[in-house]
Amino acid sequence: MAIYDPKSLKADEFINHEEILETLQYAEENKNNVELIDAILEKARPRWENGILHCKGLTHREASVLLACDIPEKVEAMYKLAEDIKLQFYGNRIVIFAPLYLSNYCINGCLYCPYHAKNKTIPRKKLTQEEVRAEVIALQDMGHKRLAIEAGEHPTENPIEYILECINTIYSIKHKNGAIRRVNVNIAATTVENYKKLHDAGIGTYILFQETYHRKGYEELHPTGPKSDYAYHTEAMDRAMEGGIDDVGLGVLFGLDKYRYEFAGLLMHAEHLEAVHGVGPHTISVPRVKPADDIDPTEFDNSLTDEMFEKIIACIRIAVPYTGMIISTRESEEVRKKALAMGISQISGGSRTSVGGYTEEERPHDTEQFDVSDQRTLDEVIGWLIELGYIPSFCTACYREGRTGDRFMSLCKSGQIQNCCHPNALMTLGEYLTDYASADTKEKGMKLIEKELMNIPKEKVREIARENLKEIYNSNRRDFRF
Ligand code: SAM
Repeated sequence: MAIYDPKSLKADEFINHEEILETLQYAEENKNNVELIDAILEKARPRWENGILHCKGLTHREASVLLACDIPEKVEAMYKLAEDIKLQFYGNRIVIFAPLYLSNYCINGCLYCPYHAKNKTIPRKKLTQEEVRAEVIALQDMGHKRLAIEAGEHPTENPIEYILECINTIYSIKHKNGAIRRVNVNIAATTVENYKKLHDAGIGTYILFQETYHRKGYEELHPTGPKSDYAYHTEAMDRAMEGGIDDVGLGVLFGLDKYRYEFAGLLMHAEHLEAVHGVGPHTISVPRVKPADDIDPTEFDNSLTDEMFEKIIACIRIAVPYTGMIISTRESEEVRKKALAMGISQISGGSRTSVGGYTEEERPHDTEQFDVSDQRTLDEVIGWLIELGYIPSFCTACYREGRTGDRFMSLCKSGQIQNCCHPNALMTLGEYLTDYASADTKEKGMKLIEKELMNIPKEKVREIARENLKEIYNSNRRDFRF
Protein backbone atom coordinates (compact mmCIF):
# COMPACT_ATOMS: atom_id res chain seq x y z
CA MET A 1 0.00 0.00 0.00
CA ALA A 2 1.39 3.44 -0.96
CA ILE A 3 2.15 5.81 1.93
CA TYR A 4 1.13 9.46 1.69
CA ASP A 5 4.07 11.74 0.98
CA PRO A 6 3.52 15.18 -0.59
CA LYS A 7 7.23 15.33 -1.52
CA SER A 8 7.23 12.04 -3.39
CA LEU A 9 7.36 12.08 -7.18
CA LYS A 10 5.12 9.01 -7.40
CA ALA A 11 1.48 9.72 -8.20
CA ASP A 12 0.08 7.21 -5.71
CA GLU A 13 2.12 8.72 -2.89
CA PHE A 14 1.36 12.43 -3.42
CA ILE A 15 -2.26 11.79 -4.46
CA ASN A 16 -2.76 9.08 -1.92
CA HIS A 17 -6.07 7.22 -1.98
CA GLU A 18 -6.04 6.30 1.73
CA GLU A 19 -5.17 9.87 2.71
CA ILE A 20 -8.11 11.14 0.67
CA LEU A 21 -10.47 8.62 2.27
CA GLU A 22 -9.25 9.60 5.76
CA THR A 23 -9.63 13.28 4.82
CA LEU A 24 -13.23 12.74 3.73
CA GLN A 25 -13.98 10.88 6.95
CA TYR A 26 -12.35 13.63 9.02
CA ALA A 27 -14.40 16.23 7.12
CA GLU A 28 -17.63 14.29 7.68
CA GLU A 29 -16.92 13.91 11.41
CA ASN A 30 -16.14 17.60 11.79
CA LYS A 31 -18.64 19.24 9.48
CA ASN A 32 -20.67 20.51 12.45
CA ASN A 33 -17.70 21.25 14.68
CA VAL A 34 -18.29 25.00 14.91
CA GLU A 35 -15.20 25.66 16.98
CA LEU A 36 -12.96 23.97 14.42
CA ILE A 37 -14.69 25.64 11.48
CA ASP A 38 -14.25 29.07 13.08
CA ALA A 39 -10.57 28.33 13.69
CA ILE A 40 -10.11 27.25 10.06
CA LEU A 41 -11.81 30.39 8.78
CA GLU A 42 -9.69 32.50 11.11
CA LYS A 43 -6.49 30.84 9.93
CA ALA A 44 -7.37 31.57 6.30
CA ARG A 45 -8.10 35.28 6.85
CA PRO A 46 -5.69 37.65 5.01
CA ARG A 47 -3.65 39.96 7.24
CA TRP A 48 -0.95 42.58 6.79
CA GLU A 49 2.31 42.06 8.64
CA ASN A 50 5.30 44.40 8.14
CA GLY A 51 3.94 45.69 4.84
CA ILE A 52 3.34 42.22 3.46
CA LEU A 53 -0.06 40.72 2.86
CA HIS A 54 -0.15 37.26 4.39
CA CYS A 55 -2.65 34.60 3.68
CA LYS A 56 -1.87 31.18 5.05
CA GLY A 57 -4.23 29.17 2.89
CA LEU A 58 -5.50 25.82 4.11
CA THR A 59 -4.44 22.20 4.02
CA HIS A 60 -6.57 19.77 2.05
CA ARG A 61 -7.97 18.44 5.35
CA GLU A 62 -8.99 21.85 6.64
CA ALA A 63 -10.49 22.90 3.31
CA SER A 64 -12.39 19.59 3.10
CA VAL A 65 -14.05 20.35 6.46
CA LEU A 66 -15.27 23.68 5.05
CA LEU A 67 -16.58 21.99 1.93
CA ALA A 68 -18.48 19.41 3.99
CA CYS A 69 -19.99 21.99 6.35
CA ASP A 70 -23.63 22.89 5.63
CA ILE A 71 -24.32 25.30 8.49
CA PRO A 72 -25.87 28.27 6.64
CA GLU A 73 -24.09 31.07 8.53
CA LYS A 74 -20.73 29.30 8.21
CA VAL A 75 -21.28 28.83 4.47
CA GLU A 76 -22.08 32.57 4.27
CA ALA A 77 -18.84 33.28 6.17
CA MET A 78 -16.93 31.15 3.62
CA TYR A 79 -18.38 33.12 0.72
CA LYS A 80 -17.57 36.38 2.44
CA LEU A 81 -14.00 35.27 3.14
CA ALA A 82 -13.51 34.03 -0.44
CA GLU A 83 -14.66 37.42 -1.76
CA ASP A 84 -12.39 39.19 0.66
CA ILE A 85 -9.32 37.14 -0.33
CA LYS A 86 -10.10 37.66 -3.98
CA LEU A 87 -10.35 41.44 -3.55
CA GLN A 88 -7.15 41.65 -1.50
CA PHE A 89 -5.05 39.71 -4.02
CA TYR A 90 -6.72 40.18 -7.36
CA GLY A 91 -8.74 43.38 -6.85
CA ASN A 92 -11.59 43.75 -9.33
CA ARG A 93 -9.48 42.76 -12.35
CA ILE A 94 -10.56 39.86 -14.53
CA VAL A 95 -8.08 38.53 -17.07
CA ILE A 96 -9.54 37.65 -20.47
CA PHE A 97 -8.52 34.84 -22.80
CA ALA A 98 -9.84 32.64 -25.61
CA PRO A 99 -9.24 28.99 -26.47
CA LEU A 100 -7.89 28.17 -29.92
CA TYR A 101 -8.55 24.62 -31.12
CA LEU A 102 -5.76 23.43 -33.40
CA SER A 103 -6.67 19.82 -34.06
CA ASN A 104 -9.25 17.26 -32.96
CA TYR A 105 -7.27 14.23 -34.11
CA CYS A 106 -6.85 12.02 -31.07
CA ILE A 107 -5.79 8.45 -30.30
CA ASN A 108 -7.16 8.40 -26.75
CA GLY A 109 -10.38 6.77 -25.65
CA CYS A 110 -11.65 9.31 -23.05
CA LEU A 111 -15.31 8.41 -22.52
CA TYR A 112 -16.42 12.01 -21.83
CA CYS A 113 -14.69 13.66 -24.81
CA PRO A 114 -16.07 13.70 -28.36
CA TYR A 115 -12.53 13.66 -29.76
CA HIS A 116 -12.11 10.04 -28.58
CA ALA A 117 -10.63 7.81 -31.25
CA LYS A 118 -13.71 5.64 -31.71
CA ASN A 119 -16.01 8.56 -32.51
CA LYS A 120 -16.68 8.12 -36.21
CA THR A 121 -19.32 10.86 -36.49
CA ILE A 122 -17.12 13.87 -35.72
CA PRO A 123 -15.27 15.27 -38.75
CA ARG A 124 -11.52 15.31 -38.05
CA LYS A 125 -9.74 18.54 -38.69
CA LYS A 126 -6.33 20.04 -38.12
CA LEU A 127 -5.48 23.66 -38.92
CA THR A 128 -2.82 24.36 -41.53
CA GLN A 129 -0.45 27.24 -40.71
CA GLU A 130 -2.47 29.41 -43.12
CA GLU A 131 -5.60 28.52 -41.18
CA VAL A 132 -3.85 29.25 -37.88
CA ARG A 133 -3.03 32.69 -39.28
CA ALA A 134 -6.64 33.29 -40.26
CA GLU A 135 -7.93 32.19 -36.84
CA VAL A 136 -5.41 34.36 -35.03
CA ILE A 137 -6.29 37.39 -37.14
CA ALA A 138 -9.97 36.81 -36.32
CA LEU A 139 -9.10 36.56 -32.61
CA GLN A 140 -6.92 39.67 -32.75
CA ASP A 141 -9.75 41.53 -34.48
CA MET A 142 -12.01 40.63 -31.56
CA GLY A 143 -9.38 42.14 -29.23
CA HIS A 144 -7.80 39.03 -27.72
CA LYS A 145 -4.18 39.11 -26.52
CA ARG A 146 -4.01 35.80 -24.65
CA LEU A 147 -4.85 32.37 -26.02
CA ALA A 148 -5.02 28.84 -24.69
CA ILE A 149 -4.23 26.41 -27.49
CA GLU A 150 -6.03 23.07 -27.38
CA ALA A 151 -5.39 19.84 -29.25
CA GLY A 152 -6.14 16.15 -29.07
CA GLU A 153 -3.25 13.71 -28.71
CA HIS A 154 -2.00 12.23 -31.95
CA PRO A 155 1.65 11.30 -32.58
CA THR A 156 1.55 11.79 -36.35
CA GLU A 157 -1.22 14.37 -36.90
CA ASN A 158 -0.33 16.70 -33.98
CA PRO A 159 3.20 15.83 -32.86
CA ILE A 160 5.09 18.34 -30.71
CA GLU A 161 6.69 19.82 -33.87
CA TYR A 162 3.22 20.76 -35.13
CA ILE A 163 2.31 22.40 -31.81
CA LEU A 164 5.61 24.33 -31.80
CA GLU A 165 5.09 25.47 -35.37
CA CYS A 166 1.61 26.74 -34.46
CA ILE A 167 2.97 28.63 -31.42
CA ASN A 168 5.58 30.23 -33.62
CA THR A 169 2.96 31.25 -36.18
CA ILE A 170 0.65 32.66 -33.49
CA TYR A 171 3.36 34.86 -31.95
CA SER A 172 4.55 36.06 -35.38
CA ILE A 173 1.23 37.60 -36.48
CA LYS A 174 0.96 41.35 -36.03
CA HIS A 175 -2.28 42.43 -37.64
CA LYS A 176 -3.25 46.14 -37.35
CA ASN A 177 -2.62 46.97 -33.66
CA GLY A 178 -3.20 43.37 -32.63
CA ALA A 179 -0.84 40.79 -31.17
CA ILE A 180 -1.13 37.58 -29.22
CA ARG A 181 1.21 38.15 -26.33
CA ARG A 182 0.74 35.02 -24.30
CA VAL A 183 0.04 31.50 -25.54
CA ASN A 184 -0.98 29.04 -22.84
CA VAL A 185 -0.91 25.42 -23.87
CA ASN A 186 -3.39 22.65 -23.08
CA ILE A 187 -2.05 19.49 -24.68
CA ALA A 188 -1.69 15.94 -23.44
CA ALA A 189 0.93 14.91 -20.90
CA THR A 190 4.34 14.62 -22.52
CA THR A 191 8.06 14.15 -21.87
CA VAL A 192 10.51 16.48 -20.09
CA GLU A 193 12.23 16.98 -23.43
CA ASN A 194 8.99 18.18 -25.05
CA TYR A 195 8.20 20.43 -22.08
CA LYS A 196 11.65 22.01 -22.57
CA LYS A 197 10.72 22.68 -26.20
CA LEU A 198 7.44 24.29 -25.15
CA HIS A 199 9.31 26.39 -22.60
CA ASP A 200 11.81 27.50 -25.24
CA ALA A 201 8.93 28.41 -27.55
CA GLY A 202 7.88 31.01 -24.96
CA ILE A 203 4.63 29.55 -23.72
CA GLY A 204 2.80 31.05 -20.76
CA THR A 205 1.07 28.45 -18.60
CA TYR A 206 1.10 24.73 -19.32
CA ILE A 207 -2.41 23.56 -18.52
CA LEU A 208 -3.38 19.94 -18.04
CA PHE A 209 -6.61 18.85 -16.43
CA GLN A 210 -6.35 15.80 -14.24
CA GLU A 211 -9.97 14.99 -15.20
CA THR A 212 -10.27 12.85 -12.06
CA TYR A 213 -7.89 12.12 -9.20
CA HIS A 214 -9.62 8.83 -8.46
CA ARG A 215 -7.29 6.23 -9.99
CA LYS A 216 -9.91 3.52 -10.49
CA GLY A 217 -12.40 5.95 -12.00
CA TYR A 218 -9.64 7.43 -14.13
CA GLU A 219 -8.74 4.04 -15.55
CA GLU A 220 -12.37 3.29 -16.42
CA LEU A 221 -12.83 6.67 -18.09
CA HIS A 222 -9.60 6.32 -20.08
CA PRO A 223 -9.71 2.74 -21.33
CA THR A 224 -7.32 3.13 -24.27
CA GLY A 225 -4.50 5.32 -25.57
CA PRO A 226 -1.49 6.93 -23.85
CA LYS A 227 -3.77 8.93 -21.54
CA SER A 228 -4.89 5.68 -19.89
CA ASP A 229 -1.62 5.72 -17.89
CA TYR A 230 -2.81 7.39 -14.67
CA ALA A 231 0.65 7.84 -13.16
CA TYR A 232 2.16 9.32 -16.34
CA HIS A 233 -0.73 11.82 -16.53
CA THR A 234 -0.68 12.69 -12.81
CA GLU A 235 3.10 13.20 -12.74
CA ALA A 236 3.05 15.44 -15.85
CA MET A 237 3.32 18.72 -13.93
CA ASP A 238 6.54 17.55 -12.28
CA ARG A 239 8.00 16.81 -15.71
CA ALA A 240 6.77 20.19 -17.00
CA MET A 241 8.50 21.96 -14.12
CA GLU A 242 11.62 19.88 -14.64
CA GLY A 243 11.49 21.06 -18.26
CA GLY A 244 11.64 24.68 -17.05
CA ILE A 245 7.95 25.62 -17.17
CA ASP A 246 7.31 27.70 -14.04
CA ASP A 247 3.59 28.29 -14.49
CA VAL A 248 1.39 25.21 -14.54
CA GLY A 249 -2.40 25.06 -14.45
CA LEU A 250 -4.36 22.30 -12.71
CA GLY A 251 -8.00 21.34 -13.13
CA VAL A 252 -10.59 18.66 -12.49
CA LEU A 253 -13.40 17.85 -14.91
CA PHE A 254 -16.19 18.08 -12.35
CA GLY A 255 -19.01 15.60 -12.84
CA LEU A 256 -16.84 12.58 -13.62
CA ASP A 257 -16.30 11.44 -10.03
CA LYS A 258 -17.34 12.46 -6.50
CA TYR A 259 -16.62 16.14 -6.01
CA ARG A 260 -15.32 15.85 -2.43
CA TYR A 261 -12.74 13.31 -3.53
CA GLU A 262 -11.69 15.51 -6.47
CA PHE A 263 -11.47 18.59 -4.26
CA ALA A 264 -9.13 16.88 -1.78
CA GLY A 265 -7.03 15.46 -4.64
CA LEU A 266 -6.75 18.84 -6.35
CA LEU A 267 -5.49 20.52 -3.17
CA MET A 268 -3.07 17.66 -2.51
CA HIS A 269 -1.69 18.17 -6.01
CA ALA A 270 -1.20 21.89 -5.25
CA GLU A 271 0.51 21.03 -1.94
CA HIS A 272 2.75 18.55 -3.75
CA LEU A 273 3.92 21.15 -6.29
CA GLU A 274 4.65 23.59 -3.49
CA ALA A 275 6.51 20.93 -1.48
CA VAL A 276 8.65 19.73 -4.40
CA HIS A 277 9.14 22.82 -6.56
CA GLY A 278 8.64 25.59 -4.00
CA VAL A 279 5.73 27.05 -5.96
CA GLY A 280 2.12 26.00 -6.26
CA PRO A 281 -0.01 25.94 -9.42
CA HIS A 282 -0.31 29.24 -11.28
CA THR A 283 -3.95 28.54 -12.05
CA ILE A 284 -6.74 26.14 -11.23
CA SER A 285 -9.58 25.58 -13.71
CA VAL A 286 -13.01 24.30 -12.77
CA PRO A 287 -14.58 22.79 -15.91
CA ARG A 288 -17.78 20.73 -15.67
CA VAL A 289 -18.73 17.98 -18.13
CA LYS A 290 -20.90 19.29 -20.95
CA PRO A 291 -22.98 17.71 -23.72
CA ALA A 292 -21.04 17.18 -26.94
CA ASP A 293 -21.16 15.13 -30.13
CA ASP A 294 -21.45 11.51 -29.01
CA ILE A 295 -21.37 12.53 -25.31
CA ASP A 296 -24.30 12.63 -22.90
CA PRO A 297 -23.18 14.09 -19.56
CA THR A 298 -26.01 12.32 -17.71
CA GLU A 299 -24.04 9.11 -18.25
CA PHE A 300 -21.71 10.42 -15.56
CA ASP A 301 -23.86 10.46 -12.46
CA ASN A 302 -21.70 12.79 -10.38
CA SER A 303 -23.00 16.07 -11.74
CA LEU A 304 -22.96 19.00 -9.36
CA THR A 305 -25.65 21.52 -8.54
CA ASP A 306 -24.74 25.14 -9.28
CA GLU A 307 -24.78 25.83 -5.52
CA MET A 308 -22.24 23.13 -4.80
CA PHE A 309 -20.13 24.31 -7.72
CA GLU A 310 -20.04 27.81 -6.22
CA LYS A 311 -19.09 26.44 -2.84
CA ILE A 312 -16.21 24.49 -4.39
CA ILE A 313 -14.96 27.66 -6.07
CA ALA A 314 -15.14 29.58 -2.78
CA CYS A 315 -13.32 26.83 -0.87
CA ILE A 316 -10.54 26.63 -3.49
CA ARG A 317 -10.17 30.42 -3.29
CA ILE A 318 -9.77 30.22 0.49
CA ALA A 319 -7.39 27.24 0.40
CA VAL A 320 -4.96 28.52 -2.28
CA PRO A 321 -5.18 32.32 -2.17
CA TYR A 322 -2.28 32.97 -4.55
CA THR A 323 -3.54 30.78 -7.36
CA GLY A 324 -5.45 32.30 -10.29
CA MET A 325 -8.80 30.64 -10.97
CA ILE A 326 -10.29 30.11 -14.41
CA ILE A 327 -13.85 29.57 -15.58
CA SER A 328 -14.71 28.97 -19.23
CA THR A 329 -17.77 29.47 -21.43
CA ARG A 330 -18.86 25.95 -20.46
CA GLU A 331 -20.75 27.90 -17.79
CA SER A 332 -23.70 30.23 -18.29
CA GLU A 333 -23.68 33.99 -17.73
CA GLU A 334 -25.52 33.51 -14.44
CA VAL A 335 -23.12 30.92 -13.03
CA ARG A 336 -20.11 32.94 -14.21
CA LYS A 337 -21.44 36.04 -12.47
CA LYS A 338 -21.60 34.27 -9.08
CA ALA A 339 -18.27 32.54 -9.66
CA LEU A 340 -16.55 35.87 -10.33
CA ALA A 341 -17.49 37.14 -6.89
CA MET A 342 -16.34 33.88 -5.24
CA GLY A 343 -12.80 33.97 -6.54
CA ILE A 344 -12.50 33.52 -10.29
CA SER A 345 -9.77 35.73 -11.75
CA GLN A 346 -9.72 34.67 -15.45
CA ILE A 347 -12.53 34.02 -17.91
CA SER A 348 -12.76 33.23 -21.58
CA GLY A 349 -14.98 35.28 -23.86
CA GLY A 350 -16.38 34.95 -27.37
CA SER A 351 -15.08 31.36 -27.39
CA ARG A 352 -15.55 28.82 -30.13
CA THR A 353 -14.60 25.25 -29.33
CA SER A 354 -14.48 23.92 -32.89
CA VAL A 355 -11.37 23.60 -35.03
CA GLY A 356 -11.39 26.66 -37.31
CA GLY A 357 -14.48 28.14 -35.60
CA TYR A 358 -13.36 31.77 -35.41
CA THR A 359 -13.24 32.30 -39.16
CA GLU A 360 -16.81 31.04 -39.66
CA GLU A 361 -19.66 33.52 -39.79
CA GLU A 362 -22.03 31.28 -37.81
CA ARG A 363 -20.92 29.29 -34.77
CA PRO A 364 -20.05 25.85 -36.25
CA HIS A 365 -20.98 22.73 -34.28
CA ASP A 366 -19.53 19.90 -36.35
CA THR A 367 -16.02 19.75 -34.84
CA GLU A 368 -16.95 21.31 -31.50
CA GLN A 369 -15.42 19.87 -28.33
CA PHE A 370 -18.37 20.72 -26.12
CA ASP A 371 -21.47 22.95 -26.12
CA VAL A 372 -20.73 26.53 -25.12
CA SER A 373 -23.25 27.92 -22.59
CA ASP A 374 -22.12 31.53 -22.63
CA GLN A 375 -22.43 32.40 -26.31
CA ARG A 376 -22.05 36.17 -26.02
CA THR A 377 -19.52 38.05 -28.14
CA LEU A 378 -16.31 39.25 -26.51
CA ASP A 379 -17.60 42.83 -26.65
CA GLU A 380 -20.78 41.79 -24.81
CA VAL A 381 -18.73 40.00 -22.14
CA ILE A 382 -16.45 43.04 -21.72
CA GLY A 383 -19.43 45.42 -21.45
CA TRP A 384 -21.07 43.10 -18.93
CA LEU A 385 -17.93 42.89 -16.76
CA ILE A 386 -17.63 46.67 -16.74
CA GLU A 387 -21.27 47.01 -15.68
CA LEU A 388 -20.64 44.57 -12.85
CA GLY A 389 -17.78 46.78 -11.66
CA TYR A 390 -14.91 44.58 -12.87
CA ILE A 391 -11.91 45.69 -14.92
CA PRO A 392 -11.50 43.37 -17.91
CA SER A 393 -7.75 42.97 -18.26
CA PHE A 394 -5.83 41.90 -21.37
CA CYS A 395 -2.58 42.08 -19.46
CA THR A 396 0.19 39.61 -20.24
CA ALA A 397 3.03 41.52 -18.57
CA CYS A 398 4.11 39.16 -15.81
CA TYR A 399 5.71 36.36 -17.72
CA ARG A 400 7.09 38.76 -20.32
CA GLU A 401 8.82 40.62 -17.47
CA GLY A 402 10.09 37.35 -16.03
CA ARG A 403 7.56 37.33 -13.19
CA THR A 404 6.73 33.64 -13.34
CA GLY A 405 6.60 30.92 -10.69
CA ASP A 406 7.64 32.13 -7.25
CA ARG A 407 8.46 35.63 -8.60
CA PHE A 408 4.80 36.09 -9.48
CA MET A 409 3.81 34.72 -6.09
CA SER A 410 6.04 37.26 -4.29
CA LEU A 411 4.48 40.10 -6.28
CA CYS A 412 1.12 38.79 -5.18
CA LYS A 413 2.21 38.54 -1.55
CA SER A 414 3.90 41.95 -1.39
CA GLY A 415 0.63 43.73 -2.12
CA GLN A 416 2.45 45.57 -4.94
CA ILE A 417 -0.03 44.08 -7.36
CA GLN A 418 -2.06 47.28 -7.09
CA ASN A 419 0.89 49.31 -8.44
CA CYS A 420 1.59 46.85 -11.21
CA CYS A 421 -1.37 44.71 -12.29
CA HIS A 422 -3.88 47.51 -11.79
CA PRO A 423 -2.26 50.02 -14.21
CA ASN A 424 -1.46 47.19 -16.63
CA ALA A 425 -5.12 46.15 -16.60
CA LEU A 426 -6.25 49.73 -17.26
CA MET A 427 -3.76 50.26 -20.09
CA THR A 428 -4.67 47.02 -21.85
CA LEU A 429 -8.38 47.79 -21.41
CA GLY A 430 -7.60 51.20 -22.95
CA GLU A 431 -6.11 49.38 -25.96
CA TYR A 432 -9.20 47.21 -26.28
CA LEU A 433 -11.58 50.17 -26.07
CA THR A 434 -9.61 52.17 -28.63
CA ASP A 435 -9.10 49.39 -31.17
CA TYR A 436 -12.03 47.01 -30.89
CA ALA A 437 -14.92 48.02 -28.64
CA SER A 438 -18.45 49.02 -29.65
CA ALA A 439 -19.41 52.64 -28.93
CA ASP A 440 -21.42 51.63 -25.87
CA THR A 441 -18.67 49.48 -24.33
CA LYS A 442 -16.13 52.19 -25.10
CA GLU A 443 -18.14 54.84 -23.28
CA LYS A 444 -18.63 52.67 -20.18
CA GLY A 445 -15.00 51.54 -20.24
CA MET A 446 -13.53 55.04 -20.50
CA LYS A 447 -15.49 56.10 -17.41
CA LEU A 448 -14.27 53.03 -15.55
CA ILE A 449 -10.63 53.75 -16.46
CA GLU A 450 -10.89 57.35 -15.20
CA LYS A 451 -12.36 56.15 -11.92
CA GLU A 452 -9.94 53.26 -11.46
CA LEU A 453 -6.82 55.34 -12.17
CA MET A 454 -7.46 56.86 -8.75
CA ASN A 455 -7.04 53.42 -7.17
CA ILE A 456 -3.36 53.20 -8.16
CA PRO A 457 -1.64 53.89 -4.84
CA LYS A 458 1.69 55.37 -6.09
CA GLU A 459 1.27 58.83 -7.59
CA LYS A 460 4.22 58.37 -9.94
CA VAL A 461 2.81 55.10 -11.33
CA ARG A 462 -0.61 56.73 -11.71
CA GLU A 463 0.91 59.58 -13.74
CA ILE A 464 2.84 57.23 -16.04
CA ALA A 465 -0.29 55.13 -16.59
CA ARG A 466 -2.26 58.28 -17.47
CA GLU A 467 0.42 59.40 -19.95
CA ASN A 468 0.56 55.96 -21.56
CA LEU A 469 -3.21 55.87 -21.88
CA LYS A 470 -3.09 59.21 -23.70
CA GLU A 471 -0.62 57.70 -26.16
CA ILE A 472 -2.86 54.68 -26.66
CA TYR A 473 -5.91 56.86 -27.34
CA ASN A 474 -4.07 59.19 -29.71
CA SER A 475 -1.52 57.04 -31.52
CA ASN A 476 -0.79 53.49 -32.58
CA ARG A 477 1.73 52.91 -29.79
CA ARG A 478 0.74 49.83 -27.81
CA ASP A 479 2.01 47.34 -25.26
CA PHE A 480 2.97 49.61 -22.38
CA ARG A 481 3.55 47.71 -19.18
CA PHE A 482 4.92 47.82 -15.65
N1 SAM B 1 -6.02 16.53 -25.19
C1 SAM B 1 -5.50 17.16 -24.05
C2 SAM B 1 -5.48 16.19 -22.88
O1 SAM B 1 -5.62 15.03 -23.09
O2 SAM B 1 -5.32 16.62 -21.76
C3 SAM B 1 -6.18 18.44 -23.63
C4 SAM B 1 -7.02 19.16 -24.58
S1 SAM B 1 -8.73 18.89 -24.34
C5 SAM B 1 -9.11 19.65 -25.85
C6 SAM B 1 -9.15 20.01 -23.04
C7 SAM B 1 -10.06 19.54 -21.93
O3 SAM B 1 -11.41 19.54 -22.33
C8 SAM B 1 -9.87 18.16 -21.39
O4 SAM B 1 -8.78 18.08 -20.52
C9 SAM B 1 -11.20 17.87 -20.70
O5 SAM B 1 -11.14 18.16 -19.32
C10 SAM B 1 -12.16 18.86 -21.35
N2 SAM B 1 -13.31 18.17 -21.92
C11 SAM B 1 -13.32 17.06 -22.70
N3 SAM B 1 -14.58 16.68 -22.97
C12 SAM B 1 -15.41 17.55 -22.36
C13 SAM B 1 -16.83 17.67 -22.26
N4 SAM B 1 -17.66 16.82 -22.82
N5 SAM B 1 -17.32 18.71 -21.51
C14 SAM B 1 -16.49 19.58 -20.93
N6 SAM B 1 -15.15 19.53 -21.01
C15 SAM B 1 -14.60 18.52 -21.70
